[in-house]
Amino acid sequence: MLDRTQGCMVGGAVGDALGYPVEFAAWPQIQWKYGVSGIRSYQLDRRGLAPISDDTQMSLFTAAGILLGMTRKYMRGIMGRIDTYCQWSYLDWLHTQEWSSRHEEERIDSWLMDVPELYARRAPGNTCLSALRAIEKDKPVENDSCGCGGVMRTAPMALLSYIHDYSNGDPDYCDMCAAEAARITHKHPLGFLPSAVLNRILMRIMAGKAGDGEQLAAVVEDCVTALAGIKSQTDEDKTYGECWPNHVAKLQSIIRKALELAYSDKPDVVAIESLGGGWTGHEALAIAIYSAVKHRHSFEDAIISAVNHSGDSDSTGAICGNIIGCLLGRQAIPSKFTDKLELVDVIEEMAHDLWTGCIISEYDRRETEEKKLWYWKYCKHRREPQPERRR
Ligand SMILES: [Mg+2]
Repeated sequence: MLDRTQGCMVGGAVGDALGYPVEFAAWPQIQWKYGVSGIRSYQLDRRGLAPISDDTQMSLFTAAGILLGMTRKYMRGIMGRIDTYCQWSYLDWLHTQEWSSRHEEERIDSWLMDVPELYARRAPGNTCLSALRAIEKDKPVENDSCGCGGVMRTAPMALLSYIHDYSNGDPDYCDMCAAEAARITHKHPLGFLPSAVLNRILMRIMAGKAGDGEQLAAVVEDCVTALAGIKSQTDEDKTYGECWPNHVAKLQSIIRKALELAYSDKPDVVAIESLGGGWTGHEALAIAIYSAVKHRHSFEDAIISAVNHSGDSDSTGAICGNIIGCLLGRQAIPSKFTDKLELVDVIEEMAHDLWTGCIISEYDRRETEEKKLWYWKYCKHRREPQPERRR
């Protein structure tokens, strides 16, 4: 289980880092710069590292938010719905990206705020930025965005949901929480429903339902069918009342098309570009699923396929990396992709925290170093224990 959790988090970051240099490049430009078969290894920066982008940064903040919520439950006996903690954490992310007007006392300050590299701006999505700016000012988020900025960041929710079931075994509830975490910034159903589908796919992979990969397509098909259950959770939504079934049908149809293409002999780039550019949530998820199913036995082949096209390469790479990394595990990720990955230690630490879940409680003596560190990270919001203040 730890191997799958690490695989999902690190795999997502590897796909993100591989695709980031070609995020805005068309396929002919990619070939011109990297050769006929496209980008196949990292483009390193001046530090000799492969930088991660906003996709991985925000995934880390998703994880920090839900772990904060879980810790609150163990320390105070109260906990809201898990996705509500993501909003606070995303405001921390906003603060890393631009000067924030939030008052000091309102800041939660995830321990991630002690990681200097996370303050780098790596083409953050405008929808995420503007939605969070509105939330910070207590204004409603008014957009109709179906961008992929929601689904690219919610994978950690599936990991925590599966390992530390907080839903009493109700998968529809977990999927709905993942969709709501995306919906904080993306208000169109095709911006947040893909998170629900990805959530269910990852939870079923965690449960071993995809086997060694041969059952991955069947798992995806099951999850697409289960969209009907997700609808029943949210169909009271007045905004989309009549159009809701159309959006669900559109999402189902593009994922089914991706599965069909994965079993065809079309070249990857042709197949992917027939699904779209991946700038929207449903297209990004479909492209990621195509590459993961087609190359289900090789992490490397899957992410190379997922980033080499004219569309949103870092996000399709990140989501594909989440799926194939979860399926094949951390051990299956070649070291050439992890040795030079920026913040790989922080990503692995976060995956480990998702795997253990909260290890302290209000009745605990916190006698071990691990428990003390957890207390500092998720109660005091600091990366490392700080010296005690003298009274
Ligand atoms: Mg990005």
